Amino acid sequence: MAADLKTEIAQAVQARRNFAIISHPDAGKTTLTEKLLLYGGAIHEAGAVKARRSQRHATSDWMEMEQQRGISITSTVLQFDYDGYQINLLDTPGHQDFSEDTYRTLAAADNAVMLIDAAKGLEPQTRKLFEVCQMRSLPIFTFVNKLDRPGREALELMDEIEQELGLQTYAVNWPIGMGDRFQGVYDRRRQEIHLFERSEHGKRAARETVWKIDDPAVQDLIDPALYAQLLEELELLEELGADLDLAQVHRGKMTPIFFGSAMTNFGVELFLEAFLDYALKPNAYHSNLGDIDPTYESFTGFVFKLQANMDPKHRDRVAFIRVCSGKFEKDMTVQHTRTGKTIRLSRPQKLFAQGRESIVDAYPGDIIGLNNPGMFAIGDTIFQGKKVEFDGIPCFSPELFAYLRNPNPSKFKQFQKGMTELREEGAVQVMYSLDESKREPILAAVGQLQLDVVQFRLQNEYGVETRLEILPYTVARWVQEGWSALEAVGRIFSALTVKDSWGRPVLLFKNTWNVQQLLGDHPDLALAAIAPVA
Ligand code: GDP
Repeated sequence: MAADLKTEIAQAVQARRNFAIISHPDAGKTTLTEKLLLYGGAIHEAGAVKARRSQRHATSDWMEMEQQRGISITSTVLQFDYDGYQINLLDTPGHQDFSEDTYRTLAAADNAVMLIDAAKGLEPQTRKLFEVCQMRSLPIFTFVNKLDRPGREALELMDEIEQELGLQTYAVNWPIGMGDRFQGVYDRRRQEIHLFERSEHGKRAARETVWKIDDPAVQDLIDPALYAQLLEELELLEELGADLDLAQVHRGKMTPIFFGSAMTNFGVELFLEAFLDYALKPNAYHSNLGDIDPTYESFTGFVFKLQANMDPKHRDRVAFIRVCSGKFEKDMTVQHTRTGKTIRLSRPQKLFAQGRESIVDAYPGDIIGLNNPGMFAIGDTIFQGKKVEFDGIPCFSPELFAYLRNPNPSKFKQFQKGMTELREEGAVQVMYSLDESKREPILAAVGQLQLDVVQFRLQNEYGVETRLEILPYTVARWVQEGWSALEAVGRIFSALTVKDSWGRPVLLFKNTWNVQQLLGDHPDLALAAIAPVA
């Protein structure tokens, strides 16, 4: 590779930071995203992220469903510049629209920002997404939000994260009061106090003034009791808290914590600056050839998400690709590992806050969208140079199961075709009963939305109206050693045995208690919550 291209790629990697936000609905992800984009100048007014959502409604017919339900199904990548960095924010869909895509997006992220509502602490969706981050040892940065409202004590929240997630914590800044008495934060990096001044209605950005902690003037501005408490707590942090250890942060073992209020835009810039200092730049990805470093000379990437039918006129399917190494250029020719085919990558797209735009080049850590209908499946590798295959993206543990019936025999073919395509696309996992008389598929999903999407698309794209019959199970476990291990155990009464799309045995349980019970009876039985990569 020409030396100047190598330098160009190394510089691009150095300047890139890529992350996803993990949170529970209502913690303030939309608000924080908006504020971050404001700093990057990618949007010019608050509310634009929500507005973008409603604009998208107009662009596609299967978004009709979004409109009906008032939710956002698709996730895009928001790119913005700040302080010499190019930042890629992978937008994981939140809310009720929880699906495997939310998990898969994390496969393309180098860092995660865990957003927590100060009043609520850790919530279920955050915990689930955290587990997926842990599988990849992603660095996790915590932003405790809504400090302008009454919430739980900072020390208590840190303790919860340590105890329940097993993460060490390091507070980068520290709140001074909370709710009505929220007066600002102390930045431990610069040893400065940032004072929060409520503006009218508390809606607009709070004014922020900065003081050195020992400045006598600041002591007049802060409530003496809160100032004393601050000094006491800082001493406690210095004495008992761990030091910031970036190596541990980068291994996903320690989380830097920030406090602020996204709505009033307080503490967001402090967070962004420290985050850019501490975050991992685009990282190596593991493959059959070992780790592929971003500066490896040839272009490589993998598909982490497929999105169908964004434009009803074209019935297109966009494959989202994470660039892992080298430089991507429009119209370049690559090899497709799974099929061995050669593909020309035309019509690449980048997804900006403003909508889709064509791109000419991209570097490691970037996400590109490709319009190659039918060509790609989740987890596929594309490459130039030496043949390489990245580790696949696992199927995530489903929690919702339902028979899908097609009551109209004349639609049998369309039904089969639709189900096969939707399964290949990764819209839902599909399992089958062992009972020959029950030939209809069992849909297995992580969120209700996936079931709705399958039904909606079967009707709209394949003309098949279907019926769901929800099954009373919430836990799936793959039998690691296959059918012979299962036969050795004999009949299992506490679970339904089914097979996945690859014919492997899966046990469906009503609850985790039943799983424990079975394992108690058969300690040698190896069960996995996540399907082995096929
Ligand atoms: P999402 O569901 O995580 O995307 O959350 P949103 O960003 O839509 O926020 C949920 C609600 O919390 C909205 O009413 C926001 O105005 C509010 N909110 C977000 N951040 C803050 C904050 O810092 N302080 C307060 N008081 N409210 C906030």
